[in-house]
Amino acid sequence: MSGMKPLADSDPAVYMAAMAELARQRTQIELIASENVVSRAVLAAAGSVLTNKYAEGYPGARYYSGCKAVDDIENLAVQRCKRLFGADYANVQPHSGTQANMAIFFSVLEAGSKILAMDLAHGGHLSHGHPLNFSGRKYHIVTYGVEPDTELIDMDRVRDIALRERPQMIIAGASAYSRTLDFEAFADIAREVGAYLLADMAHIAGLVAAGVHPSPVPHADFVSSTTHKTLRGPRGGFILAKKEHAKAINRAVFPGIQGGPLMHVIAAKAVAFREALQPSFKEYARQVVANSKKLAAELAERGYRVVSGGTDNHQFSVDLRAKNLTGRDASNLLESVGITVNKNLIPFDDKPPQIASGLRLGTPAITARGMKEPEMEMIADLIDRVLSEPTAAKKHLMIRAEVAELCARFPLYKDIEVEK
Ligand SMILES: *Cc1c(COP(=O)(O)O)cnc(C)c1O
Repeated sequence: MSGMKPLADSDPAVYMAAMAELARQRTQIELIASENVVSRAVLAAAGSVLTNKYAEGYPGARYYSGCKAVDDIENLAVQRCKRLFGADYANVQPHSGTQANMAIFFSVLEAGSKILAMDLAHGGHLSHGHPLNFSGRKYHIVTYGVEPDTELIDMDRVRDIALRERPQMIIAGASAYSRTLDFEAFADIAREVGAYLLADMAHIAGLVAAGVHPSPVPHADFVSSTTHKTLRGPRGGFILAKKEHAKAINRAVFPGIQGGPLMHVIAAKAVAFREALQPSFKEYARQVVANSKKLAAELAERGYRVVSGGTDNHQFSVDLRAKNLTGRDASNLLESVGITVNKNLIPFDDKPPQIASGLRLGTPAITARGMKEPEMEMIADLIDRVLSEPTAAKKHLMIRAEVAELCARFPLYKDIEVEK
């Protein structure tokens, strides 16, 4: 692997495992909605000497010497992030999306404050109130969900719950919701009940950056995000907010919940933000959604019920009950032929999360490889052939070969060679 020779020479065990992962990524159809494929420039920044630098604090106000270069990098990342999303203020230090949410809660809430968030069983995220997560342990969580008939969020219902519960904060955002979020309506409700609005755009940030999903930035008091999902950057998080919250957020991130920032990752975030500002990224995000709609439609045509009847974004869930399969069995079967998905609860699921009645599928990674509508039709066909004949082991071997063939037509990191 270019640049990996020192690792190959000094630590073959770690190197070989990394190469096994490269081989997996190259030869599998990646449909996990929260994953993506970053550029070589992002990889290079994340693997750079910046990992050596301690930089507690913020540009111009660090606790360590020697921060001129990392100050330049963090300033670039902040400027680009603000420009990309049209925001007044950005903090690019959160190590992950969960840390971004934690810092926002710490900035304006007290332990025991009430948060209205999307039910985890309907697609919410664990940092919005899972009983084992800090959010569920330190705050009083109340939830809204989707309607049983439409599987959509009904904003009148959210308003009724907000009026009844009077939360201090409302969270708009999900990990498994395939429809457009009405951030303006969430903001109206938050204003009416005197709550802060946090828009968690972890999944859709790339679509927002490209203008293919409405932006929460004009409406929300706080916006949290990851950089590694549709935004196609390194693993990490960031926060946007109205100017008035800048001080409180800065303090909540450091020293509130984190020590030194990961400067190599912040450099990689800066690179990804610049990439997302290019016209080609708009085209990428448009294709992600086009592919998602096409894949959902092709599966629906083959008898798979798509939750809420379709998708407006990069992902959707399918209900497997009519196919007499559980999410767990289906995801294991698909993995065995090189198609990577995750099992997922569907709304009002009667199975536990480890089994689940559905699969969640997303198109960010396969679109990054260059796949388009014709490949979505092929992938729907491959999925259907596996799931329609779960025990046809010989046929599965053939399908595995077809998956490999399709992947070979869309090479990944072509210049990376495995050291001997
Ligand atoms: C992925 C996600 C996060 C953050 O995830 P991390 O794994 O902590 O980076 C936060 N909120 C939502 C809605 C997500 O989907």
